[in-house]
Amino acid sequence: MITFVFITPIPSGGILGYVFLVFGLSFLAPTTIVTNAYLGYSLFLAFAYLNPEFEMLILFVIPVKVRWLAVVVWVFAVLGIIQGSLGVKLQIAAAAANIILFFGRDIWSSAGYRTRRVRQVVRVAQTPSFRHQCTICKKTDISNPELDFRYCSKCVGHHCYCSDHIFNHEHLTS
Ligand SMILES: [Zn+2]
Ligand SMILES: [Zn+2]
Repeated sequence: MITFVFITPIPSGGILGYVFLVFGLSFLAPTTIVTNAYLGYSLFLAFAYLNPEFEMLILFVIPVKVRWLAVVVWVFAVLGIIQGSLGVKLQIAAAAANIILFFGRDIWSSAGYRTRRVRQVVRVAQTPSFRHQCTICKKTDISNPELDFRYCSKCVGHHCYCSDHIFNHEHLTS
């Protein structure tokens, strides 16, 4: 495990700064010199996005999964946008833009991948996977591979019957 302390100027952003200081003291990630506290937030969120299960020790004692810390950071970011000065708002917007720039396409494409995957599964579930199905008893060559399936030449249309029903059904007239 790589352990290091985030080198960052203590930000002047009130409670945001305090929260970041806590993170800064307990942060585990590659050594980085952060010149902008909000860039720090975006790095943290990027790290949290990549390693949501990673556990960090808050104040070196309490283990917390990075994803929950990320949630806290997002909450404070939203509070900052609502309550902060214009400068704070702009900085938070810039940090958010950072994340979206770096991870937007990734998040987007993995969401797209999931959607495609779900569609695929749905399609497979909807597509009948058998080739023959008895018109009478609905057995298929998948459910009953031991049966012979044949198409009746006397029925109107293209009707399949299992070996139990091929000679033993009322021929369909329409
Ligand atoms: Zn049958
Ligand atoms: Zn028939």
